[in-house]
Amino acid sequence: MSKIPEGFLKDLPKTDLHVHLDGSLRIPTLIELCREYHVELPSYTESGLRELVFKERYQNLGEYLRGFGYTTKVMQSELALERVAYELAQDNQDEGVRYLEVRFAPQLHMHEHMNAVMVLKAVNRGLQKARDEYNAREAIKSGAEPPFEYGIIVCAMRMFQPGFSEYYRSLMSAHRYSPPKEIYNLASIELARAAVIARDRYDLPVVGFDLAGEEAGYPADDHMHAFQIAHKNFLKKTVHAGEAYGPESIFQAITELHADRIGHGTYLLDKDSISDPNITDKEQYVEQLGEYVADRRITIEVCLTSNLQTNPTMTDLSQHSFQLLRQHRLSTTICTDNRTVSNTTLSRELELAIKHLDVDLHDLKSIIVYGFKRSFFPGTYLRKRKYVRQIIDYYDSVEEKYFGKRTGHETELDKEHEENTVIEVVGKKKKVAAKAATTP
Ligand SMILES: [Zn+2]
Repeated sequence: MSKIPEGFLKDLPKTDLHVHLDGSLRIPTLIELCREYHVELPSYTESGLRELVFKERYQNLGEYLRGFGYTTKVMQSELALERVAYELAQDNQDEGVRYLEVRFAPQLHMHEHMNAVMVLKAVNRGLQKARDEYNAREAIKSGAEPPFEYGIIVCAMRMFQPGFSEYYRSLMSAHRYSPPKEIYNLASIELARAAVIARDRYDLPVVGFDLAGEEAGYPADDHMHAFQIAHKNFLKKTVHAGEAYGPESIFQAITELHADRIGHGTYLLDKDSISDPNITDKEQYVEQLGEYVADRRITIEVCLTSNLQTNPTMTDLSQHSFQLLRQHRLSTTICTDNRTVSNTTLSRELELAIKHLDVDLHDLKSIIVYGFKRSFFPGTYLRKRKYVRQIIDYYDSVEEKYFGKRTGHETELDKEHEENTVIEVVGKKKKVAAKAATTP
């Protein structure tokens, strides 16, 4: 697409299936909450924090993660959780995101006075309030526009330290003689059980289970038991994998954690990042893995800006594997990861894909619609199908508004193709007309 018309991306119905609540706080809200809860910040202005904490570029993952230390510190009360969830939903609605899957690690917010269900309830209250306000609009009530919907994904942490939260601190101190990996496993199992209870007993829209945090050195199979609980209770699974580690990490997420989607998956097809010495034919391994993931429609949640920021070897988007993944016909959806920490929006991520990664109108529709189709929608399958249908119809009407009817192929090659098709059709018409004339 050579030029994106003003307002087009905003008007399109979109999803964000991979966005961390604690990475997406509005900066003025963070400042206000830090003052309220007496959390010290290196600056109390938005520009100051943009310069010092929430940057455009980061030196390394450690620097990227620094911001979370501040945000999670103020997300320790039900009121604060409800507020940040409400604002996140509003920010998404403002740029036309119609389906949002918010993820976070409840255990980062747990303490003596707040258990997992209370954390989830508070976040849900905020999201629900924003949804109900949005859906009360006439255009939605009349059915002219699709409603805003959401789901919650809970994240288990691949690893944690006592300083991450009061819950983790007490857990580690209670199990002081156990190897840390057993404690990570224990926390994940507890979270999986809490997630199922929150959904089944409290009717909260907990739709998925995720594994987040430092990948290198903290293998997914430490958390197998927790994912088995999630799997056996019909929770959907997504796993942060292939962000810092190679294809075998993705393989493990699919085979051992039953992943329905993969967070990032950047190195899915990169044979050079395989480090498992048992894999001798690396070429064949990534080929087979790519085929399997494509055929099973396991969707890759691509977060362009975030990958660029946390990966020191990637200096610009042309080095990103997104195009390669698309060439292999893998199902991909574009996500923000962290709106504040990555200083981005969903529309900005789509714009990057269009401007730098050759995404045309046809690809764009496929990427966006796949987001809706592969979402962990909280309603029944029939409701989901109806919703996706409504989204596609609305998508087409927006496209038509900006580009006229059925102009989904705007590249020169496609124009040429369309001209040839017209000639062919005209030729056929002539034949048909001639035949009709001789038929009695
Ligand atoms: Zn993430």
